[in-house]
Amino acid sequence: METVDCNLCGSSDYALVYEMPDRFFFPDEFFKVVECNHCGLGFVNPRPSIGEIGKYYPRAYFEPFSRDRKQHLRRYSNEAKYLLGIERREGPKMLLDVGCAEGDFPRFMKARGWIVEGVEVSSETAPIRDFKVYNQPLHEIPVERPTYDAVTAWAVIEHVHDPMAYFRKAGEVTKQGGPLSSCFRILKVLPQGAYSVKMSHVICTSSRRKP
Ligand SMILES: [Zn+2]
Repeated sequence: METVDCNLCGSSDYALVYEMPDRFFFPDEFFKVVECNHCGLGFVNPRPSIGEIGKYYPRAYFEPFSRDRKQHLRRYSNEAKYLLGIERREGPKMLLDVGCAEGDFPRFMKARGWIVEGVEVSSETAPIRDFKVYNQPLHEIPVERPTYDAVTAWAVIEHVHDPMAYFRKAGEVTKQGGPLSSCFRILKVLPQGAYSVKMSHVICTSSRRKP
């Protein structure tokens, strides 16, 4: 475990908000969620280091992706709506999906005519052979120039150790005017003690108050 400063503003001034275990996979292991007193970012602290985090994402974590196909297709269809403006443009469109797991969302977009690539750091996911996947954190992929028409990261940013590096890199590799579409958990809609999602070890949550 490692103790860290706020990833957003660098402050080491934060306060405990709540503490709870990972109810699904590690019910006896408690994680503290703190809130930065300067910018309001919520984050797990102390947190599993890069070397330790893999065990919190066992194979079973990824299994729901292959179940309930209909529900997932509905979700992909809703997510694709954020890209409609680009999709309607002339010419080839290129998408980078960060945290693509087993590749279902990029595959969904490929079927709609996009050229797709993915980023997935987990070694527990099924190998992807039908498009290019970088098995490293986003900020370490060997792409230096604006390359993608859009970058997506669905429910991913809260799981990474350095969200700011992800945002910076997404900005570097996205063509001008391209969106970074993302969704992540909001601390304020999860009242203390009622935090029922299973990933209590997520690295950070968004602010529960305005900075
Ligand atoms: Zn902060």
